[in-house]
Amino acid sequence: MSAAASALDALKRELGELKDFDRIAALLAWDQQVMMPPDGAAGRADQLSTLGRLIHERSTSPELGKLLDVAEPVAAKLDPDSDDARLVKVARREFEREVKVPQDLRAAITRTCSESYPVWVEARQKSDFAAFLPYLEKTLELKRRYIECMAPETEPYDALLDEFEQGMTTAEIRPIFARLKEVLIPLVRAVGSSDAVDDAPLRRQLPVAGLREIEQRALAAAGFDPDAFRLDTTVHPFETAIGISDIRLSTRYEVEGLESLFSSVHEFGHGLYEHQIAPELDSGLLARGASLGWHESQSLLWENLIGRSRPFWQRFAPDLSEIFPDQFGSLGSAEVYALVNKVRPDFIRVEADEATYSLHVIVRFELEQEMLSGELALSDLPSAWNQRMHDYLGVEVPEDRLGVLQDVHWSQGSLGYFPTYSLGHLRASQLWQRIASELPELPEEIARGEFEALREWLRENVHRHGMKFTPAELQERVLGGPIDPEPFISRLREKLAGIYGQALIP
Ligand code: ZN
Repeated sequence: MSAAASALDALKRELGELKDFDRIAALLAWDQQVMMPPDGAAGRADQLSTLGRLIHERSTSPELGKLLDVAEPVAAKLDPDSDDARLVKVARREFEREVKVPQDLRAAITRTCSESYPVWVEARQKSDFAAFLPYLEKTLELKRRYIECMAPETEPYDALLDEFEQGMTTAEIRPIFARLKEVLIPLVRAVGSSDAVDDAPLRRQLPVAGLREIEQRALAAAGFDPDAFRLDTTVHPFETAIGISDIRLSTRYEVEGLESLFSSVHEFGHGLYEHQIAPELDSGLLARGASLGWHESQSLLWENLIGRSRPFWQRFAPDLSEIFPDQFGSLGSAEVYALVNKVRPDFIRVEADEATYSLHVIVRFELEQEMLSGELALSDLPSAWNQRMHDYLGVEVPEDRLGVLQDVHWSQGSLGYFPTYSLGHLRASQLWQRIASELPELPEEIARGEFEALREWLRENVHRHGMKFTPAELQERVLGGPIDPEPFISRLREKLAGIYGQALIP
């Protein structure tokens, strides 16, 4: 073997072992949520923390730095878009990011999060913001130190965004969100109070056996392969990949109406992304999605653009009537389509519809920046939250449990995460525009329950690359330009005009 090839191989071996550690940690976390008896929690926390420390040590070690130094000149001679050249580039970037944060700060963040989470769980239950406040203060202080280490050349918040959507900036997001506000606030006000759609059939718990049945039929058609996927029940739905041929999804059934179906289809979208990564990338660093905003574009594409589409319900409304004769027996596909797309301004982000969702995100995006800059005192956060929910969504938050305390993110130290959800919405619509022009038969195929051409399109254009390209590079490759809110806006307007009548749409 040549010296050049062996330098690359040594680096790949090290990164491959790190990937194995990551996946072992993911498996332990999956087991914790799905299988582990409750008394296993203490032992599991120890195991995960040991593994986390090992991963951190190896991924910031001088040895890894040396392997990178040797491999870089070799990679520089390769095609810059080759897997190996990209691997070295991504590995260097991650290494530099990891080593910038001192070990004691990392440890303090981890410790604060593990103390903060149970306090948040109880504070939310009791709607007691004051109990959570000191932990949020501590988290914010640590985040400010983290930002200092990262020393972003632009705005401080960019360092937080970069953790979840590499290279994304506040300055890029701000005008996009301003445009969404300009359109969505009056749109939600106009249709949110309409009683044109009576969604009473969806506002109750449906029999779980029936929910499992409709979900099974929909997922089987979508491409859920039982040899490579699992679906289990957990408190919070999630997706995790132990390998590209070992995809774990979870859902929950104690929710209103068809929420469990949409949630499973959503997680399937995440899972399919990882499942369709090119097999030659599977054992290494690049075997994951390009970013959270890209991941979310895939889950939301399946949940909203397919799961809530007319053709989807042309295929599955008869199943719904057959499985739930008492609730849906008399409803045709057009009626089910209207029901599942009803606009309902409400307090809770995770239950929000397509029209209101981004407004929930924008509330958080704005407040996070004001918290970080000190412009907003944390003790004033609940009232600032409620005011903005009133201004943007027209709802009066009755208690902090349904307001500022609803999300887990801040208790886990995740600031700068929320915008990725909206980026996912916007990308999904951009992708859909291109898909619609390249796969003109798709609506008829979906109406027959056929998804193969769509899966192949997603594999070829998005999934197979894993994280070979940065989010912005993938955006340029697949969508030919930056994130654009207009395809989302025009699709949403058209959809709601079809349901509520053109006259109601501002
Ligand atoms: Zn998701």
